[in-house]
Amino acid sequence: LYLDQPLAEGREVSLPPGQAHYLGSVMRRAPGDAVLAFNGADGEWAARIASLRKDRGSLMPERQTRPQTTPRDVRLLVAALKREAMEWVVEKATELGVGSIQPVLTRRSVTDRVNLARLGLIAREAAEQSERLDLPRIAPALPLHAVLDGWDGAPLLVGAERAAAPPIARVVAGLPPDLVLSRAWLVGPEGGFERVELDDLRRRAFVSPVALGPRILRAETAAVAGLAILQALAGD
Ligand code: SAM
Repeated sequence: LYLDQPLAEGREVSLPPGQAHYLGSVMRRAPGDAVLAFNGADGEWAARIASLRKDRGSLMPERQTRPQTTPRDVRLLVAALKREAMEWVVEKATELGVGSIQPVLTRRSVTDRVNLARLGLIAREAAEQSERLDLPRIAPALPLHAVLDGWDGAPLLVGAERAAAPPIARVVAGLPPDLVLSRAWLVGPEGGFERVELDDLRRRAFVSPVALGPRILRAETAAVAGLAILQALAGD
């Protein structure tokens, strides 16, 4: 259960209405029952439900069951996609342990609206489901050129279908070992990058176009598949 409050032994925390409803009406829990709680900072805690009404309640943390973990240095940059696709990407990327998600506005993005509050909620639920103790940082959407101009120079792997790009595994194998763990993966919008965007990407020394195979994947599939491959290649 994610709580946006400090967790410490014997320090009762109140449950917001959504969490109280979830525990009582969805999970059918009652006062005295045990739950696991985390807040992204204090690790995982075994806690008892101290009180529970329809839309409020409280928990008493009893002991820490896992120490806090820090997010891994895996960055996903994904073009702003249609709402359902974006939400699916955030859910799956969180399960896969992504450290941060940067929505990117591209010329063919079908939307420039990214609902950060909703995406944050989805990330929290995915963290709960996958027993992950930290949350990915989800940044406000930025235009592609701004992302590239502000880039820190780490290798940026860009999904480039139809571009005769080398396979992702070959490119990662050619990176210096210390950089293999600093992973950043950029995926274009439903309609792909425009030519000028691809030219801009290729001009940047830190960009490596890579392919995930000969098939054209949906943007959301490419986002999640690329992350899974990068995790596997880094051994986690
Ligand atoms: N309409 C585009 C076209 O036909 O060229 C397809 C765009 S694809 C649906 C969306 C994004 O997913 C692409 O910009 C690319 O970043 C990524 N992608 C799709 N298939 C890929 C592949 N096989 N390898 C690498 N990236 C891929």
